[in-house]
Amino acid sequence: AGKIVTIGEILVEIMATTTGNGFLEPQPLVGPFPSGAPAIFIDQVGKLGHPAAIVSAVGDDDFGTLNLERLRRDGVDVSAVAVHAGAATGSAFVRYRPDGGRSFVYNMRDSAAGRIAATPEAEAVLAEAGHLHIMGSGLPVPAVADMILKTLPGLKARGGTVSFDPNIRRETLRDGSKAVFHTVLAATDLFLPSGEELSLFSNETDEDKAVAGVLATGVKEIVLKRGAGGASHFSREGRTDMSGFAVTEIDPTGAGDCFGATFLVARRLGKPVAEALRYANAAGAHTVTVQGPMEGSADFAELDHFMAQAGSP
Ligand code: ADP
Repeated sequence: AGKIVTIGEILVEIMATTTGNGFLEPQPLVGPFPSGAPAIFIDQVGKLGHPAAIVSAVGDDDFGTLNLERLRRDGVDVSAVAVHAGAATGSAFVRYRPDGGRSFVYNMRDSAAGRIAATPEAEAVLAEAGHLHIMGSGLPVPAVADMILKTLPGLKARGGTVSFDPNIRRETLRDGSKAVFHTVLAATDLFLPSGEELSLFSNETDEDKAVAGVLATGVKEIVLKRGAGGASHFSREGRTDMSGFAVTEIDPTGAGDCFGATFLVARRLGKPVAEALRYANAAGAHTVTVQGPMEGSADFAELDHFMAQAGSP
């Protein structure tokens, strides 16, 4: 069936340990944690035992090595992660505001992630992919968009499939990348929006109309992520809603990526929609209970254990 492959940024996340003044005063920090939405996604695919690879770039530094070692340990092929001597692995500093929201300080400008390129290793991995997972966060990067657009025709021609997590805000979609987003959507088999992303792609605020609009473009399955509320699956055959697991949220980063990876792998293993949704909700819920974006990734045995403890949602 071939590997699940994704393209995009790898970074580390470092967290404040107090709310209040955040980074305006010295304080103990926690981290670095491996991060980057595509990295979190592919780590969860590897954890579930499915063949997995990522096309990316890191610096020749501890932050890069930390990520490479984690991904390798969890079964991800990192042969197409270029190690750049001249650029640092990016970082994100995150703090929780007193209102529960998060604020970020990004050190991504000129980071190694900006040097992702179509190396021979990247082309080799993409040429044998069975499934491509596209993250919207990478599409405004010309080299990433180029690689994706060049991969799609061959992938589709050999029976490969595509999932797409838009991972964007309204502001991001307004720039020149809008056409690329729509080209990608037209090639998408499994669309994984959350919140307002669904309406961004259909210009419909009504959920049912937005779903109908996206399915009419040829997308086969939509899974709408609803945070603590769980998720809904839509296809031409109908609709399946699945409530989420009740957990105490510690760190929401990575939930959507672990959710998407788990739904995709479960479906590729032949599990019915409802069962795949339940596993995906468990993966998302488990992730938010653990501090660190990638620290909550879980294999099937861990997810079974989590679901048994949590009971039926
Ligand atoms: P994204 O991270 O892409 O914005 P969500 O926040 O909707 O997506 O989270 C993805 C999935 O993770 C949800 O559909 C749900 O299954 C699970 N999840 C997220 N937050 C919680 C929570 N607080 N409690 C239980 N499950 C959660």
